[in-house]
Amino acid sequence: MNKFWSDNLDTLTPYEAGEQPQDKSYIKLNTNENPYPPSDAVLNAIKLTTSDQLRLYPDPNAIKLKQAIAKFYSINTDNVFVGNGSDEVLGFTFRALFKKTGAIQFPDITYSFYPTYCRLYDINFKTFPLTDKFEINIDLIPEDNSGIIIANPNASTGICLAVDKIEEILRKNSNNVVMIDEAYIDFSGNTCIPLIKKYPNLVVVQTISKSRSLAGLRVGLAIADAGLIDGIQRVKNSFNAYPLDSLAIAGATAAFEDKEGYINNKAKIIDTREWTIMALEKLSFYVVPSSTNFIMAQHKEMSAKSIYLKLRDEGILIRHFDLPRIENFIRVSIGTMEDMKIFIQKLGRILA
Ligand SMILES: *Cc1c(COP(=O)(O)O)cnc(C)c1O
Repeated sequence: MNKFWSDNLDTLTPYEAGEQPQDKSYIKLNTNENPYPPSDAVLNAIKLTTSDQLRLYPDPNAIKLKQAIAKFYSINTDNVFVGNGSDEVLGFTFRALFKKTGAIQFPDITYSFYPTYCRLYDINFKTFPLTDKFEINIDLIPEDNSGIIIANPNASTGICLAVDKIEEILRKNSNNVVMIDEAYIDFSGNTCIPLIKKYPNLVVVQTISKSRSLAGLRVGLAIADAGLIDGIQRVKNSFNAYPLDSLAIAGATAAFEDKEGYINNKAKIIDTREWTIMALEKLSFYVVPSSTNFIMAQHKEMSAKSIYLKLRDEGILIRHFDLPRIENFIRVSIGTMEDMKIFIQKLGRILA
C-alpha cells in the first residue's frame, strides 16, 4: 500500500500469468501458446501494413476484421466486438454486462482472471462446484444469479460441455447474461456461436492467441446479439477508442481469411495431444479428458509440484497451480511432436 494510491487498490488481486523466463531457452509448455508459426498470409499482411501509413490512427471500429469474422461464422458485423486480446474483451464485457445487484456465478475451478475482474469492478461473485471428475453439472448452477460465466472447454481442466447443455443453461437463465469463454473451442469443434441467433442473453468470447498462433498480436472477440454488442462498445469507447492497432487488425483479418492454415494447425495439435495422453497413461498418470491444447494429469505417486520443479531443472516449463482440488495435477501445453517426445523422455527418467 502506497499513500498515493487510490482507495482500495490494495484489495485487488492482479492476475499472475505463467512465467515467460528470459534466463535461458526452455521448451515452453506452460502458457498454452501454439508451437507452430502464424501462416505466411498473416505475416505478409502485417508486413504490408508496416509502412508510412502507421502515422494514421487505425479504424476505431476495425470493420475489416469484423467483416472477416462475420463471414467465417455466418453472422453480421453488428454481432461482433473486437479488442486487445480476449482478456481485454472479458474486461469490457464484465463491466458492460455483469455490474448489477446480486452475484454472478462461475465454477470453483476456472480461469483465474474472472475473480480478478470482479474485484476490479466491484462485482459480487459466487462459485459452484465442479463434480469429482471436474465436470460441470448444470443442476448445480444456482438460478438466483446475476450472470454466469463458463470457460468452455474449461481452464485448466480441458473438459468441454456439450452445446445442448449450454442451451439448457441459456433457457433456465433467460433474464441474465450467460458468457461462454471459448478460448480453446477450436480444439474441440463445439462452438455455441450459432445459438446467438436464438438467445439474446448469450455472449461468446474467443481469441486468436491459441488455435491461430497469434498470442503476440493481442486480438480477442466477442460474439452476441447486436444489443449486447452495443453495450460492450459503450464501455470500450469510454475507455480506449483504438484498442486494436493497425498491425493487429491486418494480421487478425488475414488469420480469419486463411481457413486452410487454421484447419491444418489445429489438426496437428489434436494429433500430438492424443499421442501425449497415451504416453502419459503409460507412465502411470491419470489424465483428465482434454478438448484443448493442454492436458491436466496426476501421477500415482510423485507430487505435481516436484514434477514441475524437476522438469524446470531439465529445461522444460509446465504449469502447476497451488490451488485447492488441483494442487496435485500438472498442466502441460501441447507443443510440437518433437517437444512432446523430449518431455515424455525426461519425465520418464524423473519418475524412474
Ligand atoms: C488464454 C485464455 C484467455 C486469454 O486469451 P488472450 O486473447 O490471449 O487474452 C481467455 N480465457 C481463457 C480461458 C484462456 O485460457
